[in-house]
Amino acid sequence: MTTKAAERDHALVHDAAARAAALLELEMRGVSAFRTVRAPALEARRVAEEAGDEDALQRANVLLSDVLLREGRVGEGGRLAHQALAWAERHDSPYVMARAHRELSIFYRLVGDISDALTHGVQCVANLTDDVPPGIRARHLMTFAVALDDSGTTEEGDRRYREALVIAEEQGDQELALLILNNMTYSAYENGDEPAARELAERMRAVSASSGRRLAANELDTVARVEMMGDRFDSVEAALAGILDGRILVNEGDAAAECMLTLAEARRLDGRYADAQVALDRAIRECESNGLARLRARARQEQAALHAAAGDYRRAYEEHLLFHADASALHSAQRESRARAMQAVFEANEARRASEHFREMAHRDALTGLYNRRYVNERLPALLAEAAAKHGPISLAIADLDHFKRINDTLSHSTGDTVLQHIGTLLQEAATGPVIAARMGGEEFLLIFPGIDGAEATRRCELLRLRIRTHGWQPVTGPLPVTTSIGVTTALDGRATVSALLSQADRNLYAAKRAGRDRVVADLA
Ligand code: GH3
Ligand code: MG
Ligand code: MG
Repeated sequence: MTTKAAERDHALVHDAAARAAALLELEMRGVSAFRTVRAPALEARRVAEEAGDEDALQRANVLLSDVLLREGRVGEGGRLAHQALAWAERHDSPYVMARAHRELSIFYRLVGDISDALTHGVQCVANLTDDVPPGIRARHLMTFAVALDDSGTTEEGDRRYREALVIAEEQGDQELALLILNNMTYSAYENGDEPAARELAERMRAVSASSGRRLAANELDTVARVEMMGDRFDSVEAALAGILDGRILVNEGDAAAECMLTLAEARRLDGRYADAQVALDRAIRECESNGLARLRARARQEQAALHAAAGDYRRAYEEHLLFHADASALHSAQRESRARAMQAVFEANEARRASEHFREMAHRDALTGLYNRRYVNERLPALLAEAAAKHGPISLAIADLDHFKRINDTLSHSTGDTVLQHIGTLLQEAATGPVIAARMGGEEFLLIFPGIDGAEATRRCELLRLRIRTHGWQPVTGPLPVTTSIGVTTALDGRATVSALLSQADRNLYAAKRAGRDRVVADLA
């Protein structure tokens, strides 16, 4: 690493704002530059891990998910986005949630699930807060618009496209503006709305001219399709001439084949069959050398139409049969790859849920649902260390029910269990904020108060004691009262051992019992 890079690395590890800014820059990169995102996103993830910055780590994961989806590694991309969403939901991070929903909308569109693409499209906009940068909002609106458009809600889609376009233009983001216009134009073309398509294609040309950004191959293809709507075949030729003679570098994998197919179709409709065959042959070569199965099937369809137009019905029929065979093979391949992608995502989710479920179960008491002794043994040392590091207080309280044997003996063991369950609920309600409630065994409970001093812990225990005594026990225990004694202790600067604290709480509890029960005893002031 050079000195400069090392310095920047150091700054990123120690500066959350610098990490966020670096991520935002990657999030704003144009779609056409997606390949340039992987290396810095991996680097951002490493830095976030080193800094213990989970939020930044998940943002980096969402960026990587986007790269994977655009590369065609759909299952992996979907899985990363699902994981980021699960994290964001658990940690209440609306930005990561919005970002992950956006990738999931793209994922479901790629696997052909229009309805889930729309659900996530809605959420990728709904979770945006007012303070997100406009460029991010525009991108999310566009994803939502595409999902609306795909699901046949054209007008709603159009409204979001227009909102996104206004933002892109205000921000002077020409690449994004062109991308949005291209989507809008293609949508108008597919809907057969020629006046709208023409007006939008004009706007594409205008943005291209004013910004000095030449239209890319897929954008030229859209423009050519619009020209074809009005049988303006010369304009189709003009739009695609640069692709034909190689003056325009083709960015996307299938754009050249798309353009050649458009050209072949236009020439056929214009009656120039030999020229149409030249364009079609180029399209077929593109498809075969790049493994473009979907477009190869469309090329067969165009070939059948061209043979038929030229009066060669036998070859038209043969080509038509080949088209059908290709198309149905393609559909089953698509179904298979969709199933594989869905399974990759699903298995990861199931495995995560199952392991979380088991971990959670191992830490819970079966009767009351409170944390158990095992959890306390694992968690308490860390909480004490945290208090010591902060030089802050931590309090502990042991609560033991009074004369519990009497309830078991005069009523029944199962009534005793019911009482314990009610106590569990009351403790759970008392354990707000950082407070942790656990059942240590029998009718003995522990409350941990991280960051809370003796006076406040005692006040809370006193409140809990009153709640327990005044709880509606009548239906459970009849005339028998249920009360608790509680011993509280505090380590003011967190400096104590677990066992010393527990013994002191236990001594205070014992004092409460001796003094007549149904009371709270804290450390001597
Ligand atoms: P003290 O006020 O001195 O605490 O009196 P106590 O009767 O509560 O005495 P102690 O704490 O020694 O008795 C605890 C009793 O709790 C003994 C046991 O029968 C009962 N117990 C322990 N675990 C359970 C349980 O899971 N369910 C039920 N129903 N009873 C339990
Ligand atoms: Mg007891
Ligand atoms: Mg006891």
